[in-house]
Amino acid sequence: MNIVLMGLPGAGKGTQADKIVEKYEIPHISTGDMFRAAISAGTELGLEAKSYMDQGALVPDEVTIGIVRERLAQKDCEKGFLLDGFPRTVPQAEALDSILDELGKKIDHTINIQVEKDELVARLSGRRICKTCGTSYHVIFNPPAVEGKCDKDGGELYTRADDNPDTVANRLEVNMNQAQPLLDFYESKGVLTNIDGQQDIVKVFADLDALLLQGSRS
Ligand code: AMP
Repeated sequence: MNIVLMGLPGAGKGTQADKIVEKYEIPHISTGDMFRAAISAGTELGLEAKSYMDQGALVPDEVTIGIVRERLAQKDCEKGFLLDGFPRTVPQAEALDSILDELGKKIDHTINIQVEKDELVARLSGRRICKTCGTSYHVIFNPPAVEGKCDKDGGELYTRADDNPDTVANRLEVNMNQAQPLLDFYESKGVLTNIDGQQDIVKVFADLDALLLQGSRS
């Protein structure tokens, strides 16, 4: 089960990805999470990524493609994988096709979670993340049981640096400009499935699950 999950920031990719990888027992490969881990670890990759992420800009394709190439070659990806946040550009999508060709794999599902722009702005500005496990909440739409604390492990909730109001608008703009050609790329190949992301979290997952249960599409 090789899945590419797309959607603008705030569309619910991370939340739905967690549910999919739990049910289908495949690794969750999020380039954003990989960059954040590199930043926390203080590596050279982290330093480079941070300079772009802080401005809401995309990390250069050659850097991003390099880390995905390494990750997909790891053993745990043999039973499948879910890519979240990659590809984000047409060159990344083309690179992904060649990486998968080299590895003798193919994408089974290319999914786009669709949400309107106004809704995305509202969602991003209220988003809170657990410091320890990374679970995502929203102060209004998906609040934790106890304010400021993660339901799963009691970890402190924080606002991601790139979710601040100054960065959100630029981040959405950059992503929308990049996303359309990418959606066109997969649409023209006839492999794109759109899922309505404005429904509640449970219903979005039910739609995704129904699609995945239909089996492989190429
Ligand atoms: P995300 O967690 O997916 O919203 O990503 C957070 C940030 O990481 C983005 O705003 C980019 O700066 C960087 N990033 C994540 N994935 C990619 C990608 N595929 N290409 C370029 N930059 C990325």
